[in-house]
Amino acid sequence: MNGKRIAIVGAGIGGIALAILATQKGYKVSLFERDIKISTIGAGVTLWPNAMFVLQQMGVHEQIQALGGMPMNMRQFDQYGAVQNEFDIAKINTLTGFSSVSILPRDLMSVLDRTLADLGVNIHFNSAITVSEIAQLKQDFDLVVGADGRMNSVVRQFLYAEKVAPQYQGFINIIAISQLKPSTLDNVIHDFRAAGERFGIVPIKADLCYWAAGWSADIDKTRPLCDWYEQMHQRFSTWPDAVQQVLKSYNKDSLKLIFVHDIDRLPYWHQDNVLIIGDAAHAPLPTSGQGACQALEDAWHLVRVLEKHDDLELALTTFYQQRIDKASASQLVGRKVAQQIFTSKAHNNEAPALGISAQQLVTLWMQGLDN
Ligand SMILES: Cc1cc2nc3c(=O)[nH]c(=O)nc-3n(C[C@H](O)[C@H](O)[C@H](O)COP(=O)(O)OP(=O)(O)OC[C@H]3O[C@@H](n4cnc5c(N)ncnc54)[C@H](O)[C@@H]3O)c2cc1C
Repeated sequence: MNGKRIAIVGAGIGGIALAILATQKGYKVSLFERDIKISTIGAGVTLWPNAMFVLQQMGVHEQIQALGGMPMNMRQFDQYGAVQNEFDIAKINTLTGFSSVSILPRDLMSVLDRTLADLGVNIHFNSAITVSEIAQLKQDFDLVVGADGRMNSVVRQFLYAEKVAPQYQGFINIIAISQLKPSTLDNVIHDFRAAGERFGIVPIKADLCYWAAGWSADIDKTRPLCDWYEQMHQRFSTWPDAVQQVLKSYNKDSLKLIFVHDIDRLPYWHQDNVLIIGDAAHAPLPTSGQGACQALEDAWHLVRVLEKHDDLELALTTFYQQRIDKASASQLVGRKVAQQIFTSKAHNNEAPALGISAQQLVTLWMQGLDN
């Protein structure tokens, strides 16, 4: 495959990562993005050691570390502020040899964008690929990769005659970025939970964090956004001080409501020379904390199998076999945590993500990542 042409649909984290890694190995890449610029939507993202491994392979991990924060602990509280559980992120970092980094999407994407530009690859913006155009791309390129996200992936529609419907999981997230008094979070991810409700706050810098408020709700797109925001303020008005601080000081432009969907495990990700990766293939819930990490892993594994196998069918089949169980495990964790918080009447504060030992998590996250 080396030297051959790859079309990538979608310049999100998965698409750009693939474009960088493939170009570094000598593939000729064309990257199509429907928007007029790279999306920096989303309040923040935590890149766990598996993601940092891939970013190191791309040569950008130090830049990402410099721009992001390095949370050292994740502490779980009830809605009154009593500590329920604690998870030692520093230990995970030591065991893997990679930091865990929290970062604003605009900073992450600007590093990736710059790296791609330095490799001489221009993104074709304002190019919303349609399902019917994929047949033409299929002819013009050796490989067509859909990295076009969870909700409306056209490449996924091309692969599946029966449209794959993303699954609403019964809860919403409202996300934003807030400025804070420097000592509020002390480098600790704060995860406040009650039955049917959650408020998570992730530090980036001493005075900057991103957060997500979540609660069980039916989808109602007719309700004005201001109603949802008002409800959020009421719901969490008696929660601990850190919650009150972020609710007082958020950047209004960063506020966003999300009806949270994931997709079911898919039986295949490719047909002929058309493949899906990232959220288009295996979108997990945000409660997994792994969507972007898994999209990065896809990019790295895909380039590896293409390097290894001249036969494209063998390469893409091998890619699916290598990735499906790990990607599905993230989806499962996301659903379990979400069910526990948002649908379980008998709320149990001990979430699987925190109940698992550091060593087990390291084994899970670093599985399949080696030189
Ligand atoms: C609230 C929330 C919190 C999260 N927190 C984390 C976290 O802490 N850690 C983590 O690892 N993950 C997290 N995630 C998940 C993460 O954001 C996604 O999994 C990740 O962005 C997926 O990357 P992707 O490249 O596959 O898709 P996307 O980022 O969705 O990119 C898809 C791209 O394709 C483009 N596109 C779509 N259709 C077309 C078309 N027809 N033609 C051309 N271009 C098209 C889009 O414009 C977009 O640029 C979180 C998600 C949410 C909602």
